[in-house]
Amino acid sequence: MTELLYLKDSYQTEFLATITDQWLDPKKGYVVTLDRTAFYPTGGGQPHDIGTLNGVPVHSVEWVDDQVHHYVDSPIKENVVQGMIDWEHRFDLMQQHTGQHVMAAILKRMYDIDMEGFDIGDVTVTIDLKTKPLSNDQLFKIEQLANTIILKNEPIRATIVQPNALEAFDLVHDITREGDVRIVSIESFDDTPCGGTHLSSTGELQVIKLLGTERISGGARLSFVCGRRAVSHYALQHARIENFARLLETSDERIEGKLHRWKKERVEREKEIEQLKEQLLTYEATELWDGSGTVVRGFTERSIHELKALATILTKTHPHALVSLFTMNGSNVQLLATRGADHPLNLRDIASDFFGVCNGRGGGSPTFIQGAGTSEETIETLERNIASVLSSQRVLV
Ligand SMILES: [Zn+2]
Repeated sequence: MTELLYLKDSYQTEFLATITDQWLDPKKGYVVTLDRTAFYPTGGGQPHDIGTLNGVPVHSVEWVDDQVHHYVDSPIKENVVQGMIDWEHRFDLMQQHTGQHVMAAILKRMYDIDMEGFDIGDVTVTIDLKTKPLSNDQLFKIEQLANTIILKNEPIRATIVQPNALEAFDLVHDITREGDVRIVSIESFDDTPCGGTHLSSTGELQVIKLLGTERISGGARLSFVCGRRAVSHYALQHARIENFARLLETSDERIEGKLHRWKKERVEREKEIEQLKEQLLTYEATELWDGSGTVVRGFTERSIHELKALATILTKTHPHALVSLFTMNGSNVQLLATRGADHPLNLRDIASDFFGVCNGRGGGSPTFIQGAGTSEETIETLERNIASVLSSQRVLV
């Protein structure tokens, strides 16, 4: 079994070790095992370390059958190697992992919410909880408490404990497995069994920023960032706000007020535009009305909703009117027919012939029918054909 140096000292970044085996895995490349290692292998929600062995990059580390497998870019010739851990990467993971301990402890000890699992991603840390999504008020209080624990700068210690000595620790869950257990303790606050790499004091966490919760199957997922990730997050958000302010030609403090005003003005403008459209359609309806009682008119690339509004104005103004409007987009035709309240025609009776002018289909009520089809005819020909369908029915009426 590989001796795990990171369990004794997570701040150790260099070590000497002897290669115990080395082979080429056809899928994963060169694999090296050592008698001792400071490389943390992927496990327990924490990603593996990266670094070098005698200058050769270690791109992955896994725990396989009581051995730590180091996956390297090329074979290593020497028997004794100097291992170097990428400290920036390790420290980031220590901050995120220790932050997870603080968060899990607050959630369990203050709110009695159990953690299902956690994951340290490239950008955020997530913990899955057996609870419904937390309220903004709860998130605010949890974040305040987490940052108070950071401010207290409490020591964090890892202790290997024999099963008969576990009673001295304040564990929230019973330990079922046999043998010695590594307990990670935040001095006045939490004891948790764990084999990961941790900070030596809560102060090194710098800050914890909660990002939100989302509903997941059977519970909620809480996202947050710790330490340098949180500092970067604040810097990015600050830069965004400054950019918004520049774009809006205002100061940071006035962005919200300006956006509220813009929103209100936009609603008012949309109302004005609707009123102007209505006025234009009323004017257009006046132009279309020639007094004959029937209006048939085709357009290109107009909205069928707009044509419906135009037809409605015509039939409301002239209760005896019979109106058909259509719009063409290439060979696609959308068409409608409607009548005023005093016109006796049941439009359903002519629907088949009406939609037939463009090999189309549609439906509606006795006073309004609408549908679509295709035609290679010109607008003028379609107008004549529709007028013919309507006038033949008028004779019958
Ligand atoms: Zn841990």
